[in-house]
Amino acid sequence: MGLSDNKQPGTDLARRRFGSAAVLGAVAVFALAAAGLSIIAPNLGPFSAPPSKAAVEVPLKIVATTSMLADAARAIGGERVEVRALMGPGVDPHAYRQTRTDIARLVKSDLAIWNGLYLEAQMEDFFKDLAKHKTVFAAAEIVDRAKLLGHEDYDGRLDPHVWMDPDLWTQAVAGVRDQLIALDPAGEEIYRRNGQRYLEQISAVAKYARTVLETVPAGNRVLLTAHDAFRYFGRAYGFEVIGIQGISTESEAGLNRIKVLVDMLVERKISAIFIESSVADRNIRALIEGAASRGHKVVVGGELFSDAMGLPGTYEGTYIGMIDHNATVITRSLGGATKKRGMSGKLAVTG
Ligand SMILES: [Zn+2]
Repeated sequence: MGLSDNKQPGTDLARRRFGSAAVLGAVAVFALAAAGLSIIAPNLGPFSAPPSKAAVEVPLKIVATTSMLADAARAIGGERVEVRALMGPGVDPHAYRQTRTDIARLVKSDLAIWNGLYLEAQMEDFFKDLAKHKTVFAAAEIVDRAKLLGHEDYDGRLDPHVWMDPDLWTQAVAGVRDQLIALDPAGEEIYRRNGQRYLEQISAVAKYARTVLETVPAGNRVLLTAHDAFRYFGRAYGFEVIGIQGISTESEAGLNRIKVLVDMLVERKISAIFIESSVADRNIRALIEGAASRGHKVVVGGELFSDAMGLPGTYEGTYIGMIDHNATVITRSLGGATKKRGMSGKLAVTG
């Protein structure tokens, strides 16, 4: 069974996914139910308990959009949480639209976590509505604004790919921890302890990435990928980053863009470019063919995890494994030195 089995044809997805009218309907039904409860409560008579905010039941039901956010909630929440990620391996968050099942899960959740900063562009309106009724947390939006990057193609918006710089991502992760504490104060000690451990693991992988990426010769520090997901990574580790498509996968790369990039590959003698697990690789193939027709050999340096992690249950299916994989593959493909199996020997062989 190949990876492609996980990807359903677009038409099937389109049929299964709901438009915004249906979303509003689902939220409205929830709102009515909530309103109904508050109408019924006062009729219970003078001897009923005063209306109070019910304690949340453990395990907390948490729904996160991306797998990176779900990983943080799982690691910090431990046995006190039940976490579901809406977007699995290979899923592109820029294009993802909530399914009927997603809506039902989100409406029943104790906490919904999304990245925000317009990453989940197709779910923006839905989350804004949901926030009127449920606890909704946009984790990347609490990151220090002064550290966020803008983008020339992306009018007035900030780059949402904050997880690509692990040191910056710790702010979003600490935000997830604080949300859990606020929702379930009885678990505070556990959340703080697990959070501390997870943040230490993130610091360790950030340190590993810095150490190995520094071994890439200065002239090779160009990271060309399918879309602009690696700008925070590039800033953190001193790489020039070029995305064939812009910051969102919604825009198509034109023929002219491909030609300009082929010229650049040839002129700068760049020998490896990278595919992404959540973006189709046709543009990367076009660049390789274009360079070959000019007598310059370019290879695929490997597959990177940009907007989604690897398969659940594997090391690459964790945030730490994702960053370890990316740093290791980039280092090895661009002429730096590190072990094939990465920071702690847990990676599947990276070539
Ligand atoms: Zn992206």
